[in-house]
Amino acid sequence: MVDLDDVRRIVGERHVVDGAALSGRPQDFWVHTPTAALGLAKPKDVQELSALLALCHQEGQPVIVEGGRTNLVGATQSTGETLLVSLERLNDIAVPDRQGMTVEVGVGAIIETIQQRCATDGLRFGLDFGARGSATLGGALSTNAGGFQALRYGVARDQVLGLECVLADGTVLSHLSSFVKDNTGYDLKHLFIGSEGTLGVITRAVLRLHPAPQSVNTALLAFETFEAVAETLGLMRRDLNGTLSSFEIMWAEFFHFNVDAVLNGRSPIEGRYPFYILCESEGFEAEADAALFEAVVGRAIEDGLVADAVIAASSRQRQELWRIREDFEAEMQLFKTMIDFDVSLPVASMEAFVSEVERRLNEEVPGNLGLHVLGHLGDGNLHVTTGLATPEGKGEVRRLVYELISGYGGSISAEHGIGLAKRDYLHHSRTAAEIATMRVLKQALDPKGILNPGKVI
Ligand SMILES: Cc1cc2nc3c(=O)[nH]c(=O)nc-3n(C[C@H](O)[C@H](O)[C@H](O)COP(=O)(O)OP(=O)(O)OC[C@H]3O[C@@H](n4cnc5c(N)ncnc54)[C@H](O)[C@@H]3O)c2cc1C
Repeated sequence: MVDLDDVRRIVGERHVVDGAALSGRPQDFWVHTPTAALGLAKPKDVQELSALLALCHQEGQPVIVEGGRTNLVGATQSTGETLLVSLERLNDIAVPDRQGMTVEVGVGAIIETIQQRCATDGLRFGLDFGARGSATLGGALSTNAGGFQALRYGVARDQVLGLECVLADGTVLSHLSSFVKDNTGYDLKHLFIGSEGTLGVITRAVLRLHPAPQSVNTALLAFETFEAVAETLGLMRRDLNGTLSSFEIMWAEFFHFNVDAVLNGRSPIEGRYPFYILCESEGFEAEADAALFEAVVGRAIEDGLVADAVIAASSRQRQELWRIREDFEAEMQLFKTMIDFDVSLPVASMEAFVSEVERRLNEEVPGNLGLHVLGHLGDGNLHVTTGLATPEGKGEVRRLVYELISGYGGSISAEHGIGLAKRDYLHHSRTAAEIATMRVLKQALDPKGILNPGKVI
């Protein structure tokens, strides 16, 4: 283990936290037990981080880099021997390049801050998800986050043109390229993006930006059949001239539960339907965009696809619709021991998959507290959540769902990553040869296994 005094010599006395100040904070978003760690170091730049990692490499010191600790898979969970590293001081955002539509950002920057900074220059950073106010760029890149706008702009990986990172032994790899086309050997950045801090520490990125849309149109749609939902997705993708940015599904049980919890039961749509979609289009000509959006929703109703619809008439109403989709406070209380799944599978298999999960849960885990299903349908990504009164039986539920998703040829992690929570189920989505290759990469880049040990593989 490293001596914390050596760490202090590198990052400065004021930038090491230990003792009660560290143990007094919760581990992460889910786990509210005290943080167990040797200490938390906050280097100010890539040089300090490099020196710190060189020291840790020499001493065989386990290191976990943390961002906003909003990950949902135990990816930053530590033990008393871990040195935590926060890059919150590397949070600079350069002036965006308006012509090239890029911006260089330190990984400590908060996602929402990047969004807002780019917006002041008329540019859009195309990554957005519920934890935008706390999650950092480093965490989002390391988990390859997805979110609400992946349908339009892609996932975190797709936002990155150049990357700087530091290897376990302190070697700095800097390729802060701002080019869309740059075929100069292996594209190393994609090794680090999505690797959850196990292969290297990301310090900066050059992000690809887009023109900021000038109009937003939002609707809540109700459906009688899943087939009609899938057909409407195709219709909106085609007829909204590429402006569809979100297409979020909610199964009835979740929708009505959250309408009760968030809107005191005042549902924007009367009656009860099996499926609800919150969809949004963003364009560049307010009047024409609104007319087109209304026309496309109208056509879906006339064609008998959409059973009922509400188009948000104000930004307040838009926010209200999004709260039904985004607010999880009540769900977290309902499910006590919450067991959540973040899966990808073909849209055509979703309805059968969900029905089978429900049937098997009711048959094999009769004590389950219900099933909530929602997700980013446009990306083939569902969030399936259930709960138990106590943690016993959690493993059984996980096994059941992961075996099912594997049977459907789906992915056990669409956008949240593997971390600790899904590590033992990775084989449901990746072959033995793939996992062995991951181990070869880990061994090559981090031979002493100091970076986020025990996570992912
Ligand atoms: C309410 C809520 C809603 C969410 N919605 C979505 C969603 O819609 N879509 C989605 O994809 N995700 C969602 N998430 C989870 C999302 O993955 C995380 O919020 C985010 O990507 C992690 O960022 P963070 O800064 O909190 O990272 P942390 O949680 O601190 O870390 C995540 C991982 O990244 C590693 N890491 C952090 N920084 C670095 C770095 N600089 N270099 C190397 N490794 C690093 C950590 O070691 C860890 O393995 C949601 C989370 C919450 C709480």
